[in-house]
Amino acid sequence: VKERSSESITAALERWFAERARDLPWRQPSVRGGYAALVSEAMLQQTQVSRVVVAFVAFMARFPTVADLAAADEQEVLAAWTGLGYYRRARHLHAAAKVVVAAHDGEVPADLESLRSLPGVGRYTAGAIASIAFGKRAAIVDGNVARVLLRLRGRDMGSDEPQAQRWAWAEAERLVEASTSPAAFNEGLMELGAVVCTPRSPDCDACPLSQRCVANAQGTTATIPRPRKTTARLTVHHHAVVVRRGARILLEQRGDDGLWASMWQVPTIESAAPLGIAGLRKRLTERGVVVDELSATGAFVHLTTHREVRFHVHRAKSTQRRGDWVAPANALERPMSAAMRRIVAMT
Ligand code: SF4
Repeated sequence: VKERSSESITAALERWFAERARDLPWRQPSVRGGYAALVSEAMLQQTQVSRVVVAFVAFMARFPTVADLAAADEQEVLAAWTGLGYYRRARHLHAAAKVVVAAHDGEVPADLESLRSLPGVGRYTAGAIASIAFGKRAAIVDGNVARVLLRLRGRDMGSDEPQAQRWAWAEAERLVEASTSPAAFNEGLMELGAVVCTPRSPDCDACPLSQRCVANAQGTTATIPRPRKTTARLTVHHHAVVVRRGARILLEQRGDDGLWASMWQVPTIESAAPLGIAGLRKRLTERGVVVDELSATGAFVHLTTHREVRFHVHRAKSTQRRGDWVAPANALERPMSAAMRRIVAMT
């Protein structure tokens, strides 16, 4: 099967995107620009579009400009991120807004190098902002885009293999160079990967590139990209203890790094193997949490991309005053993981 010219591909995709683009809030002419692109791209990493739509509108109402975001309190920014998960992105976005104000006069920069120096902005996000908000000929490759390009050109590789990544970036560069509008082409490519050229059941009949696609012609859409090797998730045990003193429960904040960074939680002891009551009490005491009547109340499993977190939920009482004691309803107003919300809501 002969490869089709870059120009014929980009023209077909841009035409399709102009007709079929979903009406998403960050595509509105009234909000479109560097700041909207920065916020929407941060939200879209690892979160479904339907969730991002609601969060984006609320976030932009709360922080209408990059200066408003830069001046906000971190807890407020994290609270506005509720429902999106992966809170590290919110902290990066907040830090990026501060850099934009301090180093770029409050205007999101348009060049790739300055964009990439912003916290949380990698090659993909920089390319997306430069092309979508500023019309630059900058390439973008994420999992969706790599899949579309590998199929389109019939490359039999796994989309996250380094060799496939190198090839996909080079191909994306060639195509964006050939495009009429880098913004429409890149957005069209992302849109195609999200709604037509999906991982398991690409709708080739509805695809504007079907006549130009090698995998479609060869019937290899089911095997390109090559399935990734699954790596086993690491199992960790989180012993979450709802400690009461009267009507209040004890909260603590997680560290700055790692899973659920800076989120709030009930005292939680993490270990590689499950702990019995005596072991758990000892670990709590070492952490300065002295409890009575410690007992197990339930367990559930929470899966993240890389971990299987086994929650062992406990309850206990305490008379100590030290620590952050709050009413359960107020506790839920703090930034918390979905799993921790579930535990606090059960109390
Ligand atoms: S024709 Fe099918 S496999 Fe090829 S790009 Fe379109 S949806 Fe993907």
